[in-house]
Amino acid sequence: MQGSSSRVFANDLFEQDIPNRTPTREHGLTALRQFAPLAGRSYQDNRNKDCGPGQHRFVSQLSPYVSTRLISEAEVLSAALCKNSPNAAFKFIQEVFWRGYWKGWMEHRPNLWPALWSRLETVHAEVQDNKWQRQAYQLACAGETGIEPFDAWVHELVTTGYLHNHSRMWFASIWIFSLQLPWELGADFFYRHLIDGDPACNTLGWRWVAGLHTKGKAYLATAENIRRNAAPRMTTNSASLSGLERLASAAVPLEETLPNDALRQAPLDLPTASFGDLEDATTGLLLTETDLGLHTPTAFHSVAGLAPVQRSPIGASSELVERFIRGAVVDAVVRGQKKCNVQADEAVPLLQPERVVAWAQSQGLHRLVVAYAPSGPTRQALDQVRAAVTAAGIEYLEFSRNYDRLVWPYSKRGFFQLGKNIPEFLAAMGLT
Ligand SMILES: Cc1cc2nc3c(=O)[nH]c(=O)nc-3n(C[C@H](O)[C@H](O)[C@H](O)COP(=O)(O)OP(=O)(O)OC[C@H]3O[C@@H](n4cnc5c(N)ncnc54)[C@H](O)[C@@H]3O)c2cc1C
Repeated sequence: MQGSSSRVFANDLFEQDIPNRTPTREHGLTALRQFAPLAGRSYQDNRNKDCGPGQHRFVSQLSPYVSTRLISEAEVLSAALCKNSPNAAFKFIQEVFWRGYWKGWMEHRPNLWPALWSRLETVHAEVQDNKWQRQAYQLACAGETGIEPFDAWVHELVTTGYLHNHSRMWFASIWIFSLQLPWELGADFFYRHLIDGDPACNTLGWRWVAGLHTKGKAYLATAENIRRNAAPRMTTNSASLSGLERLASAAVPLEETLPNDALRQAPLDLPTASFGDLEDATTGLLLTETDLGLHTPTAFHSVAGLAPVQRSPIGASSELVERFIRGAVVDAVVRGQKKCNVQADEAVPLLQPERVVAWAQSQGLHRLVVAYAPSGPTRQALDQVRAAVTAAGIEYLEFSRNYDRLVWPYSKRGFFQLGKNIPEFLAAMGLT
């Protein structure tokens, strides 16, 4: 994990805060071009170091662009391999595939997200009813626990919408095992503040730390590891002053509390990406925050976007999240309109699910095409859209990405099964 300093590359271009990042594909591509040369040994040796807000120069910070698919996994992999050998970029490539793994794993367990969603209100109410837990939850969300690095991460998360991967792991571990708060509320707090918030990566990241993913194996944050890899977060070496003496000394894996995470028996049934000849004069495209890619199987007469979805039943998403997602969807709609030479209104259509039918009718659409959304709030919103659109006599078609159809079937159990196929995936994508 610790690399030799001679391999450390300063990347001044990345010394900027995430909130200043523009939610556009163009900006994402620029960030990708800038980071690609660092995706090799520099990443492998230094990726575990949390250098502090605005200083995350060893990791890409591309996740808000990839989770919205303003840029695709294939584009990220291709850029990394253009600048590094497959051996040197191995670790970075593997991390990119972790996203596909989590999404596929959740897809194989379709009840997990709805069960978590309906359970959150109960868990929240239980914490509110317990004086000690209520106070611990409030202090944790306010970044006032007295555990110095934890409080600094809360501040960074709330003010920038980003946290380094290692810090997400330490944060979740401290939340669950030191503060003894329910993992569901921690995952919810993350999801409402991370601008890269992704239902699968986030929920399953928390479950992994809690010991619910790999049975019997939880992740323990230790003072020694935090001091070694997150030095800029510490103002003192004293365990008592930094609050690190309060870290749990063991992480006993949690027992499963969700009733319905049964593994789907049938193979995944992702909708195909080919529609044959569709008439574009009556076909519309609806873009959602989980897939703003414009590689679509047909041309369109009209393009609109779904407004940011509600990420939680117990609270609103942060303003940073709302702003980034709204901007990203608008960027994609405008590019989509240009691509298809659509006559655009001045106002970019950003629709709530219940407004989609009215928009489609106003455009004279007979057919609506949407990129498949995996388990999560966008899926919930699309199920609502599909029901309303179909009831209005408009054809509703979803298509899925080649990448997802390639990777998700290997995500049924552990990462190993997927990981060993990475060379074949890259070959299938023409990236060898
Ligand atoms: C508790 C917890 C919650 C998380 N919540 C989210 C979330 O809501 N959304 C999200 O996108 N990621 C989440 N992650 C995964 C990971 O922390 C982030 O993807 C990563 O930190 C993003 O920063 P980066 O782009 O600088 O990553 P880099 O280190 O530069 O990695 C490059 C790309 O690889 C992918 N990647 C890297 N690490 C992971 C990982 N562990 N899992 C999945 N993909 C990964 C991302 O697409 C990332 O952009 C979570 C991890 C944990 C432990």
